[in-house]
Amino acid sequence: MKKYLVSVALVAVALLSAMCTKPVGPQVVAHRGYWDIEGSAQNSLEALRQAGEHNFYGSEFDVNLTADDVLVVNHDFTFHGIMIDENPYSAIKDSTLANGEVIPTLDQYLDLFLQYPQLQLVFELKSKGDADYEARAIPMLLEKLEERGLTSRTDFISFSLTACQEVAKRVPEMMVEYLGGEIAPAELKAMGINGIDYHYSALEKHPEWVEEAHSLGMVCNAWTVNTEEKINEMLELGADFITTNAPELAEQLIAARAEESK
Ligand code: MG
Repeated sequence: MKKYLVSVALVAVALLSAMCTKPVGPQVVAHRGYWDIEGSAQNSLEALRQAGEHNFYGSEFDVNLTADDVLVVNHDFTFHGIMIDENPYSAIKDSTLANGEVIPTLDQYLDLFLQYPQLQLVFELKSKGDADYEARAIPMLLEKLEERGLTSRTDFISFSLTACQEVAKRVPEMMVEYLGGEIAPAELKAMGINGIDYHYSALEKHPEWVEEAHSLGMVCNAWTVNTEEKINEMLELGADFITTNAPELAEQLIAARAEESK
């Protein structure tokens, strides 16, 4: 009985520590899902499915809000020439992506994430910095994450500093990473933001920001790193996450480095 209780305690400790810590070592985030393969397309449900099936650490996706408050997954502010934030969902809902799927809603996307419990959501809110837009979008998206139990699996990212600050204020425990590339980690930390997600050229310009971020307990994500040379460069700098259109290549390079360091 005692042995059984000890085993149960050990399993509980292992589970708790797995829940509370970020994974060790650099991790791969599929940029807009895994789309560079047959039958997939950027920000499609299939791209998310492929990221999940390939067991990548995370899948990045972009979210826009329609004029009638429907959150949709799409990179650009426009879809088939229609400005998303100025039009109702009905104006875009039947238009298709490159793989024939219709534009996914955030609800559909999050429901699919539930089928891949190991997969981290790297959630980018697209915003022009409009206060009304962000005031409508942010509470809605946070509620959708919360009601599905996805908050702790989400890294929120945005080029909008005000959106990052608002999410960090509302959900201090959420990983929030600013995308802009021009602000030092210490300055972001003072705003309550706990990560940088910068284009690799920003990190080339300020390589010291990786260590600065780490010393402040912040994470460092690098985008969009697609070549062997640049992926290795970002790994060498110590980036925690590699956001890439070539996730299989990034995994191979990370594995090769781990093998070399044995
Ligand atoms: Mg994005």
